[in-house]
Amino acid sequence: MATKLKSLDDLLVHELQDIYDAEGQIVKALPRMIKAASHPELQAAFEEHLEQTEGQIERLDQAFKLLGIPAKGRKCAGMTGLIEEGKKMMEEDADPAVMDAALIAAAQKIEHYEIASYGCVCTYAEMLGYDQVHDLLGQNLEEEETTDERLTVLAESVINVEAEDADDLEEEETSR
Ligand code: FE
Ligand code: FE
Repeated sequence: MATKLKSLDDLLVHELQDIYDAEGQIVKALPRMIKAASHPELQAAFEEHLEQTEGQIERLDQAFKLLGIPAKGRKCAGMTGLIEEGKKMMEEDADPAVMDAALIAAAQKIEHYEIASYGCVCTYAEMLGYDQVHDLLGQNLEEEETTDERLTVLAESVINVEAEDADDLEEEETSR
């Protein structure tokens, strides 16, 4: 349903509904990503972020409450697309180390969407003087940024390195 957006207030609500739906989709998608991951550190990172995501949804519930509007989502097509892409990737016949690298890429695309969303709503809330809402959204933003950085470190120090060596190992095995 189309909504009339007459003010930054309206846009804040619209975008909060979008990210609320997106977070709900992520909670459903993460267990599949945990299962598809091989490296224990990557599994742990996803597991922790699943827990964090549940807390983020609670903060969004609080934000809606503070704004005096019902907590409800608005179909986030962007997140549906990102998750759909990730699903297709997980169906590929990939070496486990390469799959881990691909899972990090999929997860980081999701995190970047969230960082963009929270960045915008944080700014709106601040401009509109909703200090408590701003604080809650800022906490979510920080968690997404930390997760993104953690995945980068994990990729650069371990996962991508193993993925890079994956076919060397395979060649060794087949030449034996
Ligand atoms: Fe999130
Ligand atoms: Fe996230």
